[in-house]
Formats: sequence, C-alpha cells, structure tokens
Amino acid sequence: GTLSAASILAESARRRPDHPALHFAGTTTSYRDLWDQTRGYAGALRARGIGPGDRVAMIVPNVPDFARAYYATLALGAVVVPVHLLFKADEIEYVLRDSGADVLVVAAPLLTEAVPAATRAGVPILTVLSPPADAGGPDLPRLEDEAAAATPIVRHEPVRPTAAATILYTSGTTGSPKGAVGSHLALVEQVHCSLVDAFDLRADDVVFGGLPLFHAFGQVCVLNTAFRVGASVVLLPRFEPDDALALMVHHGVTVFTAVPTMYVGLVEAARRGGARPALRYAVSGGASLPAAVLEAFSETFGAQVHEGYGLTETAPIVSTNPQSEPIRPGTVGKPIWGVDVAVADPDVEGRIELLDEPGTLGELVVRGHNLMKGYLGRPDTSAEVVVDGWFRTGDLGTVDDAGVVTIVDRKKDMIIRNGYNVYPSEVEAVLARHPEVGMAAVFGLPHETHGQEVHAAVVARDGGAVDAGELVAYMKEHVAAYKYPRVVHVADELPLGPSGKILKRELVQRYQNT
Ligand code: ATP
Repeated sequence: GTLSAASILAESARRRPDHPALHFAGTTTSYRDLWDQTRGYAGALRARGIGPGDRVAMIVPNVPDFARAYYATLALGAVVVPVHLLFKADEIEYVLRDSGADVLVVAAPLLTEAVPAATRAGVPILTVLSPPADAGGPDLPRLEDEAAAATPIVRHEPVRPTAAATILYTSGTTGSPKGAVGSHLALVEQVHCSLVDAFDLRADDVVFGGLPLFHAFGQVCVLNTAFRVGASVVLLPRFEPDDALALMVHHGVTVFTAVPTMYVGLVEAARRGGARPALRYAVSGGASLPAAVLEAFSETFGAQVHEGYGLTETAPIVSTNPQSEPIRPGTVGKPIWGVDVAVADPDVEGRIELLDEPGTLGELVVRGHNLMKGYLGRPDTSAEVVVDGWFRTGDLGTVDDAGVVTIVDRKKDMIIRNGYNVYPSEVEAVLARHPEVGMAAVFGLPHETHGQEVHAAVVARDGGAVDAGELVAYMKEHVAAYKYPRVVHVADELPLGPSGKILKRELVQRYQNT
C-alpha cells in the first residue's frame, strides 16, 4: 500500500474546511485556504523539477509559510530538511551538502547567512515572507510568485510508507550534525500513537505553537498532532513569556506543549498578574521537568502536566504519561503504543546486553515504528547506535515492573566526583525548590583532586536576587555531601538552544576558567 504524511493536512481540509488551522500575527488561515496554498507551493516546487525523493531544505521560523512549504514537500513525495534557524553560513552549507538539498526555501529576514551558504553549495533559493525594509542584496525568486504562475497540484503523491519524509539534523554535541532520516510511516504513527492513544486532543482545541517547528518536538507534537484532529494552532515565531501568555489568553489556548524553560517563564509571567488561559492539559518534554516546576504550573493554570520523553532519532516520542492514568511526577510515563523501551548495560559496546531486572539503572534503548531509518550517509555511525534493532539513546534511566520509564540523566552529562556518580537533573530538581531560584543548571568542571567538581548556574526568580553562598549552604543541607554544588554561579541568563533547552556545553565553557 501507500501512505503520505501530507494526508494529515489534506484530510482535515476535506473534513473541516472552514475551521481555523493557524492563527498568526492577527490573521487566521482556514484548513481549506492552507491546503489550497500548500497545493500552490507544491505546484511551484514541481515546476522546478522537485519530485519524489528530492530534498527541500527550509530555513523558516514558526509562520504559516513553514506549514505550507512543509506539507507541499511531503505532498510531492519529496523530503523536508528543516534547518536550525540560528545556523551560520558554514553550518547551513554543511547541511545543504550533507542532505543533498535540491532547493532551499528561506524566510527573507534570514537571508544573510543563507545566501553565501546556498551559493557555495550551488543550491537555488526560493524566499518566503518579505525582506526587512533596509535589506539590499540580490532579488531572489519568491515561492509565492512562482506558485501564482504554476499549476497547483490536485492531490498528494502517495509513497511507500517507509519512504523518507524528513531529514532532521541533531544539534551535534558530539561531532558534526547528523541527519536522522524519518519515514512517512513514523510521522503518521507518531501522531496516532501519541495523540489518539495517549491524549484526548479534540478538534475544538486551540494548541500553543511556540516550540520551534524545525525540531521534531514542535513539528510532530504540535503541528502534525493538531492538524490530524483538525484543531487550531497559535504560531509564535519566538517565545517571550509575557507576550506568549497574552496571546494564549487572546486565542483561548487549551493545550500547552513546551519544554521546561517555557514552563518556568510562563509561571513567572502569570505571577506578574493578568488573565490566564483555561488550559485543558499540558505536555512537557525535551528535558527533565523539575517537580517544583510541574507543581507550580499545575497550581497556576489548574491543568495536569503530562511529561514525555523523546529524541530526534525516534520521531520523537518514546514514552509519555498518558491521560488515562494518574500522572507519575518525575517519570516520563510508559512507552507509546508499538514502542518498546528496555535498559541495557551502558558499558558494553557492539552489542546490546539487556538488564531486565525491573528498576536496574542503565542505558535506555528503544525499538519500534518510530525509529529513524538511519543517519543519512553514515552507515557506520548508524550501526553503532542501532544494534539488534535497538536504538541506544545515550540516556541513563530505569524501567520499573509496570513499564514506567524514569530518566536519570544523559550519559554524557553525568558528573563523576571522587568516583561517585552525580546526576545533574536530580540536583537541579532540588535547586528548583528554592524560592529564589528561577532557572538552574548543574554541570561538572575538571578538578585536580576530585576529578570533577559539581557546579551550578542559577538565574534568580522573576528578576529578584539570589545569594550564591546561601544557596551552597541550602544545597549542602538538602543533598548528600558528594553531590551538592560546591560552587554556585549567579547569572542573568543561561544559554538556551532554540528549542529552549539549556546548553550545558556552553556553561562548561563559560565557567571553566573560574
Ligand atoms: P544532540 O543530541 O544533538 O546534542 P539533543 O540531545 O538536545 O541534541 P534532541 O533529540 O532534541 O537532541 O533531544 C533528545 C534528548 O533530550 C534525549 O536524549 C534526552 O537526553 C533529553 N530529553 C528529552 N525528553 C526528556 C525528559 N522528559 N526528561 C529528561 N530528558 C529528556
């Protein structure tokens, strides 16, 4: 048989043509209009020779054009290659070459880095959005103009279910970014197994769209999931807590899907006053959600928070706290339908040695429909991470006898102080309980006698003050001697990736000479 992830939009356009698909900057786009525009974009891409298997790279923020170009590409049976919005020219060039991009769709305000990259890689550019008023530079073809001149496609191209749909680049903490190839089947199954099975998302829901769409979390858990049921998405090109809160109230957002730093920001914004949206439920993922943040959010917004776990390589969802069961704070719930999670010996390489005794700590391994097809053009690296059908996540955790998964930390973030293992996320959860702490990150720095020393970087809650010495004393009282942070750095901000995750490697660089 055949299948296309473009059905996610096409079907809702058929069933709920007049329902709002997107709210953005004061305009609302219905499902009918969005699908018509998407068919137009697909016509323009087809006129440029794009067809099944070709690669369409995109540098587009959270604006309606992201959805148009994304589904247009999928509808042609071509492969979407979303590029990190903060990438510089060299990084963009790398992705264009590595993915074998045939065309690059760029939001005009982001042309500065894209033009030199595309020129060097020999990839033609199509622009969306208007350039800033003062922008000079070359007059590049606009996707919208080409769509107006081309014949729209009538229907989407069916493909084999295992055909590539997306190439998503990992952020590349370890070496060069790698392109995880995801199939149409994985995209469609994710939507069904995460949403239809775990959550009761409805067509009259209004979904918060602040997670970056170039990342799997936003793309799948916000855009595809909402569109599958014909719900509406409120798009935010960047997350600023006060504006986000006001916009959520304005549009009556009912479902909040976000990373923990967004939870912290939204709680602080709500404490400053003003109206609050009537949320039905919320979903957190991407990094560990400290219990204190979960409690503060549930209390402030009167909504249950469902924490889940995922990775780019797993499309992304692996497990979640479903709506049908009581929340288990501090856990990432149970594997979604059709996905298995097990624990393997982290020190055994080349094969998978499962540690099946419930509760044993080890490396989490995953198998199921959601697994990537592999890293593009890297059979060796792919074979290192997918062994006997199991994907090694690089995360340490446990699975209990009921199948509930708990993440302890990333293997690479674990600190070893005097031979003792310190898991930063556990220490961060305690820091988050301190009334003066807004955001906190724990990391290790090299130390002459201890091997590594435990450091913390904190930002005071809501622009207030926090005393480093007092925090060290507080932590000494609340956690074991080998793991409390001996050094606390008070900062104005923590380095965040575009998906709102704290970048620990930058903290290490920032503080390594202190
Ligand atoms: P890279 O691996 O390229 O450096 P990244 O790890 O941030 O970047 P993603 O695929 O975005 O890449 O994130 C996956 C990782 O996020 C997981 O391996 C895990 O460490 C972490 N993560 C996701 N959800 C949770 C969660 N609920 N609790 C703790 N960690 C989580």
